[in-house]
Amino acid sequence: MRFIGLCFCFLEKQCCGEDATDECVSCGKCAASCPLNNIKLVEGRPVWGDDCTHCMACINLCPKQAIEYGEKTVGKFRHKCPRYKAGT
Ligand code: SF4
Ligand code: SF4
Repeated sequence: MRFIGLCFCFLEKQCCGEDATDECVSCGKCAASCPLNNIKLVEGRPVWGDDCTHCMACINLCPKQAIEYGEKTVGKFRHKCPRYKAGT
């Protein structure tokens, strides 16, 4: 999984969630959804660490679509599995 994530990072030349947009409401769902605890809320803003596998959970579960993967996800549909409970 980590290898695939590194491939994404290499291809995209960036990592997801370098910063949240102004749409962020500090709900913390991104931090709660990260399987690697790679996101911390600092003064109400998510801060990403260096342990991302690019699973895209934080991007897809943010209720405000405040996390982007560079320009690739801007305006794109977010998917949330109806059975997924973590981070909700
Ligand atoms: S899930 Fe979205 S709105 Fe909530 S804290 Fe994270 S970036 Fe902000
Ligand atoms: S993409 Fe996945 S591993 Fe990376 S910060 Fe978001 S939830 Fe965590």
